This record gives sequence, structure tokens and C-alpha cells, in this order.
Amino acid sequence: MERVEALVVGGGQAGVAASEHLTRFGVPHLVLERGRIAERWRSWRWDSLVANGPAWHDRFPGLEFTAYGPDEFVPKEEVADYFEAYAAKFGAPIRCGVEVTAVRRIPGRTGFRVETSAGPIEANYVIAATGPFQRPIVPAMVPESAGVVQMHSTGYRNPGQLPEGAVLVVGCGSSGTQIADELLRAGRRVTLSVGPHSRYPRRYRERDYCWWLGVLGRWDIEAPEPDTRHVTIAVSGAYGGHTIDFRRLAERGMTLVGRTEGFADGVVRFAPDLAANLAAGDRSYHSELQQADDYVAANGLDLPEEPAAWEIPADPACVTDPVLELDLAEAGVTSIVWATGFELDFSWLQVDAFDAAGKPAHRRGVSTEPGVYFLGLPWLSRRGSSFIWGVWHDAMYVADHIATHRQYMAYRAPGRV
Ligand SMILES: Cc1cc2nc3c(=O)[nH]c(=O)nc-3n(C[C@H](O)[C@H](O)[C@H](O)COP(=O)(O)OP(=O)(O)OC[C@H]3O[C@@H](n4cnc5c(N)ncnc54)[C@H](O)[C@@H]3O)c2cc1C
Repeated sequence: MERVEALVVGGGQAGVAASEHLTRFGVPHLVLERGRIAERWRSWRWDSLVANGPAWHDRFPGLEFTAYGPDEFVPKEEVADYFEAYAAKFGAPIRCGVEVTAVRRIPGRTGFRVETSAGPIEANYVIAATGPFQRPIVPAMVPESAGVVQMHSTGYRNPGQLPEGAVLVVGCGSSGTQIADELLRAGRRVTLSVGPHSRYPRRYRERDYCWWLGVLGRWDIEAPEPDTRHVTIAVSGAYGGHTIDFRRLAERGMTLVGRTEGFADGVVRFAPDLAANLAAGDRSYHSELQQADDYVAANGLDLPEEPAAWEIPADPACVTDPVLELDLAEAGVTSIVWATGFELDFSWLQVDAFDAAGKPAHRRGVSTEPGVYFLGLPWLSRRGSSFIWGVWHDAMYVADHIATHRQYMAYRAPGRV
């Protein structure tokens, strides 16, 4: 039986960060990745995706993106290459192509028995770094018999992959919005279902929104504001980076509709909430601008005012006269892209690290099962936790916790071995 001190499950950015910090703390460990390093950047995301944050921000502290300027948005394959290079830089012990299928506590002594596709392993510590976005959610709404191609955003690659015809994109987070925009640019007729969301200025007063969230301490907030838990955020680094304003997409020919509610007899039904959703998005956007203005004033910064950023374009016809139904055949819709998010799947982690609702039970990644840790989950310690720069800091805390625990375990009373 192979034995390791610490086992990291998942070789994405969270697994690489965990490995770096464990190495620094001198904790012997192994990372198991079922695909390749940063697999989800490679095979779960569309071809043209670029990072949502600029190169100076969306990276780990120890390595820059040398082929890109600091304000450029790095294409997703290069993001994956970056994590491979990062892991190579410190010789991360990552074993690829090995899936962890079960983790169970060993009765009567410390440690865990880990079942993998390459045989069992024993570990004293297990870090679950299997991602914030694990299992795609597709609402069971439109049956196969509707005769349209349906896919989750993780299955979307490029416009050429979809059959000729119009497309319904459901979900207005960063994925849905960027995919809808790409399809529109490719000449498709696109309907975008816009639910509740927040949106940010891409740049304001000469600074990217990543910078503003940083200086305002907003990456560090520990829990979502009340009532915003399920609200998605629309930002984009595509085409050099731009602020998402759904009305601008409508000006270019996209039809905006409210939240997708149901389907019957070939017709998709939408809630009459488009105007309200856009208005709430505008409020979040204006609140960001106001906080930035307040910060500039309070700190006497020399950043030029930008009154034009406050302007909201007039509502297009699809907002003032909302579309509440879409007959797929009549509208020539041949595909639906569901950009409807993800859920967690920790069915392999069979330990006491979950609450009554089945959610990971932890504080800053230290779970209720001694020896088991989580990394990379949304809001693990703060807003930045599921993002590239944030997970690096969480990984330091978790590795430190393990190193400290090992010190206790290494204690021997004088005269005892
Ligand atoms: C479309 C999209 C764009 C994003 N863009 C950005 C961005 O620009 N900037 C940013 O900071 N964040 C971005 N994020 C958020 C976040 O950075 C990514 O989701 C990132 O991939 C999370 O890294 P991770 O290592 O936590 O998880 P993942 O990348 O999901 O890695 C988990 C790894 O675990 C492996 N794995 C899972 N189960 C097992 C198992 N049982 N055994 C072995 N291996 C397993 C998987 O193969 C995977 O490689 C984006 C997210 C999405 C969905």
C-alpha cells in the first residue's frame, strides 16, 4: 500500500497552490489529478475564452505571464499552460490520469484510505481541491423530443459547433453573456435569458474592476451580502475587455428576455422580470462607481473623473415590450445553451465533513473531519476564494494548519520515542 503524508485531490490551480505551500512548509505530499494539470481550463471551457481579469491580477504571486502585457486578458489555453509551468517551477509532485473514487477514515487510528483508479493509497491528510464548479446544472425543462440541440456552457466550444439557426442562451453570468455575444458576432439570431445579476464597470477612472475590488477590500469580504447569494456576475475580458451592458447587446440585435421559467408544446416561457433584473444590475453597477468615487475622494487620488460611465442607454423594445414566450420552431431556434451554473459533487469524500444539508462544513477550508480540508470553493474564506489569486492565499492557510498539526503529532514526552 502506498502511503503519503498529505494527499491533494485535483490538479487545477487550487491543487497547484496547495502543493506549493505544502512544499514550503516541508509537508511530504502527492497531488492526484484525473485529467491533466488545469484540465477544466482546457476541456470544460469554450475556445475563445480569455481570463476575466487582466494578466497582472489573475495569476499567482510567484510567476508572471511573460507573453502578455499586464493589462491583457490571457487566453484560456495559456492560463492552463501557466499552471503547468508553475507546477514545474517547484517540481510539484502531481500524478496525472489518476481519479480518486473514495476517501474513508481508517477506523481506530489516524489517516484515510483513499481508493483511486490506480489502486489504494493511505494518507494522514486529504485536501479536496476538485473545484468550485464541479457538476453542470441543466434544468430539466426542455425535453429531447423538442428537437433542438441542447448543451451546458461547459459543452459549448464555438459557433460552428451549433447547427444553422437561431440560439437561445439561458443565463446572463459571465459565461452566458460571453457565449451569446460570440454567437451574435458570428451572425446568429440570439435570445438571451437575463435573470438577476450584478455587473461591474470593466474599467473606471483608469483602473480595472479587479483593482477596485482589491483597494476597496471587496475581494476580502467573508460572505455575500444578504439576498445576493445566487446572483451571478457579468464581466468579460473578451475583445480586449469591456463593460457588459445588456442594452448594448440588444442595440446590436440580440433579443433580451427575463428568467426562463418553463416549456410546453414547443414554446419556452419567460418571467416578466427583465426590466427589474436590468434595474437591479444597474444599481449594483452604479454602487461600484460610487464606491470608487468615494475612495478617490477619501484618498486624494489623481484619477480622472469619468461621468460618461454613469450613463445607462435607453431601454430597447425588448425591455419596454417584453417577450414572454418563444415558439422555438417559429423563431427558427435550433440550439439552446444552458449557462445555468454548477453544483458540488463530493460523493467520493465519505467522511464527516458535511452539514445536514450536505454542504461542506468547514472554517477557512479546515473541515469538521480532522485531517480533511477544502480548497477553491466559492466563499471558502472570502469572495476571492474561488478565483486564481484568492485560492493561493487560502492554500497557505490550509498548508500552515497541516504543518502545525504535524508538529503536535511529532511531540514526544521526554524519554519516550
Ligand atoms: C468559464 C469560467 C471562466 C473563469 N475565468 C476565471 C478568471 O478569468 N479568473 C479567475 O480568477 N477565475 C476564473 N474562473 C473561476 C476559477 O478560477 C476556475 O473555475 C478554476 O478552474 C478553479 O480552479 P480549481 O483548481 O479550484 O478547480 P478546477 O479548475 O475545477 O480543478 C479541479 C481539478 O480536479 C480534478 N478532479 C475532480 N475530481 C477529481 C477526482 N475525484 N480525482 C482526481 N481529480 C479530480 C479535475 O479534473 C480538475 O482538474 C472561471 C470559471 C469559469 C467556469
